[in-house]
Amino acid sequence: MAIKGMDALDPRGKKIIIRVDFNVPMDKQTGKITDDTRIQKALPTLHYVLDNGGSAILISHMGRPKGQRDSFVTMQKTADHLSTLLSNKIYFSEDAIGPKAGELAKNLKSGEILVLENIRFYPEETSKEKSERTKFAQAIAIMGDTYIDDAFGSCHRAHASIVELAEQLPAYAGLLLKKEVDILERILKKPEKPFVAVIGGAKVSSKITVLEKLIEKVDTILIGGAMAYTFLKSRALETGNSMVETEYLSKAFQIIDKANFHKTGFFLPEDHLVASEFSEKAKTKTVGKEIPTGWMGMDIGPKTIDRYSKIIKDAKTVLWNGPMGVFEMQPYSKGTYSIAKAMSKMKGTSVVGGGDSVLAVKNAGMEDKITHVSTGGGATLEYLEGKILPGIAILDK
Ligand code: AMP
Repeated sequence: MAIKGMDALDPRGKKIIIRVDFNVPMDKQTGKITDDTRIQKALPTLHYVLDNGGSAILISHMGRPKGQRDSFVTMQKTADHLSTLLSNKIYFSEDAIGPKAGELAKNLKSGEILVLENIRFYPEETSKEKSERTKFAQAIAIMGDTYIDDAFGSCHRAHASIVELAEQLPAYAGLLLKKEVDILERILKKPEKPFVAVIGGAKVSSKITVLEKLIEKVDTILIGGAMAYTFLKSRALETGNSMVETEYLSKAFQIIDKANFHKTGFFLPEDHLVASEFSEKAKTKTVGKEIPTGWMGMDIGPKTIDRYSKIIKDAKTVLWNGPMGVFEMQPYSKGTYSIAKAMSKMKGTSVVGGGDSVLAVKNAGMEDKITHVSTGGGATLEYLEGKILPGIAILDK
């Protein structure tokens, strides 16, 4: 897929509507932004536009306000935060469409930014009716003359600001979006081998399609997290009180068969850190491949950590999605952080996607040592599954 990048765009004198992903995490009590990575990652595209004589009209969603105003998720917060990162003049419009927003857009000068209010305050943004989404997109489009999509994390959604807005104006992929797509394309089409995928997280069910796809592409898959227990149980191994998706046992069985058929290495944990209950204060111990009655698996064990780390370090391409254990609780975080460390030490291309694994890499201070930390959770998975993302398809040359 060859999407249209910004190299063909001269921003001079243009009012450019940029769909960014400013859906930043906030403290539930204070409402303060707790991590501004998503705003930081939009800066290269903003600089490109503003430093080359354009002005920027920023649109984004934040949270899930379900088509109604909700002051907790106002874009005013991101506009205020942006003003601490850029010296450019920044205006905020408390409407995303209409005369007030239009007036602010009309008066916008080169090098200035207008942040529009959360587009998910408008039910039309996510409407199932294309005609409603188109009308809404037209109301946004009249404020600018060019569109840039830099919100990879939303490209799997057929929403007005992603698809219909791109239909209304000359549309380009922003620098971040282009980078995301280029790197995922590279590892899917021309990965350097050995190519290893590390897949963890709670459920097999949410990762069946991606696992099936990866089995055809990679040399080795390393499984961790609670999903490992569904795989182990499908092969009649004891899993004690561990989280198991019983309705997916036969699917799990088939996935292992598929890996064997394709001669793809499919590794399950050979030991586990188990706990007497789902709590930070529980009694813990390390056990072998099977989990005794009365205990639940919470993290991969030390032998598994060693083996997985070695396989990662010897790889030329590694893709990681999903934690190896209940990493939010300190006693069960070692497996996940060890994977982050191994990834930071490998010499080839390392790609991390999915909220929890990204968080682990950041907490471990390893972000700079990873080739690419993806901003898309669901979008990254869907891309790897081989799905055509609506927001990417619309930018296809
Ligand atoms: P996912 O969204 O599917 O990537 O799953 C992430 C969640 O899986 C995290 O909140 C982890 O705490 C959880 N998880 C990982 N390992 C386990 C485990 N052994 N038991 C229960 N939950 C787990």
